[in-house]
Amino acid sequence: MTTTQMTNFESMISDRALGIDVSGIRRVFELGAKLANPINLSIGQPDFPVPDAIKNATIKAIQTNHNGYTLTQGAPQLLRSVQNRMTSDVGWDFESDDLSVMITAGTSGALLLAFLALLNPGDEAIIGDPYFVIYPAHAQIAGGTAVYCDTYPDFRMTAERIEPLITERTKLVLINSPGNPSGVVLSEQEVRDIAALCERRGVLLISDEIYDEFTYVDARENGTCPSPARFTERCLLVRGFGKTYGCTGWRLGYVAGPTPVIQQMMKLQQYSFVCAPSMAQVGLAGAFDVDMGDLVERYRRRRDSVLEAFDGVADLVKPGGAFYGFVKVPAHLGLTATQFAERAIEHSVLTIPGAVFSQSDTHVRLSYAVAEDKLVQGLTILRQLMTA
Ligand code: PMP
Repeated sequence: MTTTQMTNFESMISDRALGIDVSGIRRVFELGAKLANPINLSIGQPDFPVPDAIKNATIKAIQTNHNGYTLTQGAPQLLRSVQNRMTSDVGWDFESDDLSVMITAGTSGALLLAFLALLNPGDEAIIGDPYFVIYPAHAQIAGGTAVYCDTYPDFRMTAERIEPLITERTKLVLINSPGNPSGVVLSEQEVRDIAALCERRGVLLISDEIYDEFTYVDARENGTCPSPARFTERCLLVRGFGKTYGCTGWRLGYVAGPTPVIQQMMKLQQYSFVCAPSMAQVGLAGAFDVDMGDLVERYRRRRDSVLEAFDGVADLVKPGGAFYGFVKVPAHLGLTATQFAERAIEHSVLTIPGAVFSQSDTHVRLSYAVAEDKLVQGLTILRQLMTA
């Protein structure tokens, strides 16, 4: 292909696509790809296999011909199972027409459709900083604007921090607890206050609870992950199966909330994803009966070893859930997080610099969803680099 033809293709690309910046992540991956045997603490998915009961149910789903389109809203058996779960977990009643559930192509699918259904050009979505990378991208794809709620240094997105950011253009507030990249879990009082604020100011609250099961015992309240859905029905609750059951590649999530919003999201799903993967829907219909407690407890112990590793070495806010630590690069090093992450790569350890998740570049995210021997090696190297 000639240079002229290349230039032509580039000039065809939309501002929407060009406006999304992947340079930060790409740089880490490019540097990491050159390593022969990296200690990869950059991974955002569990290191345990899918439980056999779920694998077998999904294989059976294929063998019994659940391979075609499902209803756009979702396969009936999974919809029922999610509704029961929502009722027992947050007390929502799906008997009336006020609330609905839709099964989506991953949690990402639910979030994208929510942004598309809610934002007009110029509308604002308030998201916490640091944030999961796709949030600002989704706001932009939908033509809206991400407004960042600075949560440093404790990473708590509170009503007090959100309220001054609300304008007449604010359409939605998005919270993520347990959070990526910080692992911070909001308290029941905090989510209740945010729900009340959003109700008072007439904005829709979206709660991304993809890590709900990975809420460690010390951050649980009433035995579970604090959710605003327990205090309001004026919110979209987004959860997924990928992290909980180790099947991120199966692309399955769900969203529950006010019927008028879910209906519009369903229309958009019909004209985009069409439906979530059929075999995964049928295979995961019984997933809530599989007890993941021992695995979550194992992750909690890893979380404790991460806390121990940085004790007295670097600031690390205690993660109450998920499987990440967001560690502050010690000031005496005089490095940005990107520079520190590059230095760690020179020692074969992959982390993700804060600039990927934030307007600031002061922390690195490490994932402890990796084999314990690798984690110990990685923590030892990072600690040495931070004390050097
Ligand atoms: N939300 C958060 C906070 C995440 O960390 C992730 C995945 N890393 C997602 C959503 C997307 O998950 P899924 O694979 O279900 O699309």
